[in-house]
Amino acid sequence: ISLKKSFKYVIIGGGVAAGYAAREFVKQGLEPGELAIISKEAVAPYERPALSKGYLLPEGATRLPGFHVCVGSGGEKLLPEWYAEKGIVLLLSTEIVEADLHSKILTSATGGMFEFETLIIATGSRVIRLTEFGVQGDHAKNIFYLREISDADKLVEAIRAKKNGKVVIVGGGYIGLEVGAAIRINKFDVTMVFPEPWCMPRLFTKEIAAFYEGYYANEGVQMIKGTTAVGFDVDTNGEVKAVKLKDGRVLQADIVVVGVGAKPLIDLFKGQVGEEKGGIQTDGMFETDVPDVYAVGDVATFHMKLYDDMRRVEHVDHARKSAEHAVRAIRASEEGKCIEEYDYVPYSYSRAFDLSWTFYGDNVGDLLLFGDPNPASSQLKFGAAWIKDGRIVGAFLEGGTDEENKAIAKVARAQPSAEYLDTLKREGSSLHISM
Ligand code: FAD
Repeated sequence: ISLKKSFKYVIIGGGVAAGYAAREFVKQGLEPGELAIISKEAVAPYERPALSKGYLLPEGATRLPGFHVCVGSGGEKLLPEWYAEKGIVLLLSTEIVEADLHSKILTSATGGMFEFETLIIATGSRVIRLTEFGVQGDHAKNIFYLREISDADKLVEAIRAKKNGKVVIVGGGYIGLEVGAAIRINKFDVTMVFPEPWCMPRLFTKEIAAFYEGYYANEGVQMIKGTTAVGFDVDTNGEVKAVKLKDGRVLQADIVVVGVGAKPLIDLFKGQVGEEKGGIQTDGMFETDVPDVYAVGDVATFHMKLYDDMRRVEHVDHARKSAEHAVRAIRASEEGKCIEEYDYVPYSYSRAFDLSWTFYGDNVGDLLLFGDPNPASSQLKFGAAWIKDGRIVGAFLEGGTDEENKAIAKVARAQPSAEYLDTLKREGSSLHISM
């Protein structure tokens, strides 16, 4: 008896991209039994960004089924029943441990075998652990990383158990900033530690960071910059008690949350598929160099038409759109047709406390700040533009309305001459921001 199950389409990974791909398959016309989604997680695809935001709040916290895809982009929630209704096989709590792209067979940890005609790789990223920087002891109790809902559940449990305690956040990126804010709202004493001179250095300039750092300070979150965690003190129960810093300081901690980056999960495919910039190399349709194998979301290094280079994007908007694009490309190719190349304007956002920023485009060149980046102001609204070779290539807005965010998205796509900013200033900005 063969234990092998065969599907026309298999998606490996059950995260954001998988959910949006499933919806697109259905839009394009899908027969029952044609598609299987295989996911290590125990729940149907959901909007991952909620885990560091609403999921951690003390009151009115976001919970499933409230944030299954595709609510994050204003669509209808795909409940587990939806997959069943559409005849999509959702194989949850199933980890693929072996992938043979040429014989087109995937094998799960429990020995299940899955055959595909077309594969979409949507395995996303894993967290980078402190041990990868040579820091030992991160397995102590109450030290957390955050990637999947099971991680968030453990953190929520600790937040309940350690009321009014001390929390140290290791890392000053967006995960650190969001989790730090959510835990502060839970009334913990929060200290963030990171080696860079300011927070969110991958996107923020010193000037932008100064606004957020000022706001966090006003909210009572401490930031220790320019040093790193090098170890932990642990009690006899194995619970973390303190974080030891490189500069010699020791920070008491009842809970530690580490957010020091992510790495695309591509080990399963090593040596079988082309790689670039740490991801799986694809064309503008997300097809890899292996026939019938596509890669989307965090794992894909694709041709970015707007900048004519190869990039990997670790943001939810791209996970959604790349998945939809790949499915459209797959269906078109089955009919001998071709669709347009993916034409993406990078977009990312974050929300913490009452703050909410959006960024479109590329953060290269010189920075021009506009509005009032004052964390104590009642308006909490300012923007920034990145100017390269006389053109606006990136635009950032804190506190923008939907319309204003759409406007900066257009700017990032059109890359107008930097003089455009003067025009806006003269004519009274369409962004309603005093510049
Ligand atoms: P994922 O959503 O990570 O899904 C991958 C799935 O594959 C997971 O379910 C995983 O379990 C599964 N998987 C992996 N390996 C295997 C295997 N071998 N077998 C079976 N299943 C497997 N982006 C923003 O733009 N804005 C934000 O505010 C934001 N907030 C975030 C907050 C958090 C806490 C996190 C973790 C990420 C956040 N992101 C945010 C990033 C965004 O969520 C990701 O870019 C997006 O989820 C990528 O989608 P994906 O489908 O490629 O991967």
